[in-house]
Amino acid sequence: MSQDCIFCKIAWKKIETEFVYEDDKVVAFKDLNPQAPIHILIVPREHFAEILEAPASITGHIFSNVVPVLVDKFGLESNGFRLVINTGKQGGQTVEHLHVHLLGGRDMTWPPG
Ligand code: AMP
Ligand code: ZN
Repeated sequence: MSQDCIFCKIAWKKIETEFVYEDDKVVAFKDLNPQAPIHILIVPREHFAEILEAPASITGHIFSNVVPVLVDKFGLESNGFRLVINTGKQGGQTVEHLHVHLLGGRDMTWPPG
């Protein structure tokens, strides 16, 4: 755990947060500042600053196992959804602990801002 990382604190329950999903590798919770009716953050418990640092055991678990559970839980399969990983300065990353945004419940636009 990285001492001054907000998502480490959430993942290790130093800050009380309601999880919509959790297992031994990953937690998921609602974004504080939602950009869609459904906006979930999927966060590995282990601290990886960004996607390039994370092993396939984590990214594969998120995309193959966790996303389908959340898509089912929030009823996103029929209308679709968007997954986003902002990375680095130009990518718009503001929290330097890997997280996957799961967005749904409205029509998305393209290109993204
Ligand atoms: P990014 O800009 O991709 O790094 O996304 C960071 C996201 O974390 C933003 O959408 C924030 O609204 C969200 N966020 C920051 N702090 C918290 C928190 N304590 N609980 C839930 N979401 C948070
Ligand atoms: Zn962290």
